[in-house]
Amino acid sequence: MKITAVELENYIQDLGATFVGFSDVSSAVGPQLEKYPYAITVGIRLSSSIIDEIDNKPTFTYFSHYRSVNFFIDQLTLKIMLFLQEKGYNAYTVPASQSIPDAVVPYSGVFPHKTGAVLAGLGWIGKNGLFIHRDYGPAVRLGTVLTDLELKSPNDVMESQCGECSKCVKACPAYALTGSQWRIGMDRSAVIDARACSTYMNSNFKHIGRGSVCGICINVCPYRKAAK
Ligand code: SF4
Ligand code: SF4
Repeated sequence: MKITAVELENYIQDLGATFVGFSDVSSAVGPQLEKYPYAITVGIRLSSSIIDEIDNKPTFTYFSHYRSVNFFIDQLTLKIMLFLQEKGYNAYTVPASQSIPDAVVPYSGVFPHKTGAVLAGLGWIGKNGLFIHRDYGPAVRLGTVLTDLELKSPNDVMESQCGECSKCVKACPAYALTGSQWRIGMDRSAVIDARACSTYMNSNFKHIGRGSVCGICINVCPYRKAAK
């Protein structure tokens, strides 16, 4: 049975997503995933109250919140995948949080959620290496469903709106951020030293968030603070 992009978006909003976007990722997926040329990006906004508590380290509450939101996103993308499959389309869920040890790009999963989100025109990549949503800033978590349902998208990519700001670069205790302004096609390593970030979290925050969360560069971002 055919389904339109509008029907799909309404279905996803009803499931509880904060925002939804569609993009053509045919040039961004590797050979293993090339049969899924379109991406559905779903996002959940994090709690401002919980992020506000982060100062020079993550909090136990933030770690719990991070895991709850990831779990919720995995439920959302599972439901979307099942919905599409019932309608006769192929669909593939990308885990909300995934780091594959032998991935081509270290500290990454099968497909970067950020790629789908920026191609959908939902925001840009900040100097903190995070996806910055145009309305909510960096305090969001992303999920992705790849599919062969044709979702026509202009792939209108936003330019970085970081400008002269470098609050996250100055706040990073791991000195992991280069300060470079992101533009489409740029390697992640030009913006962030993912190894330095991960090593710092593992050395300093293992007792709080098993070395997988920090949140400092989310907290300080003016785009988060300005979000209503
Ligand atoms: S998560 Fe923490 S350590 Fe990693 S880049 Fe952000 S501020 Fe630096
Ligand atoms: S803190 Fe400033 S430089 Fe860093 S992501 Fe936010 S706006 Fe960009």
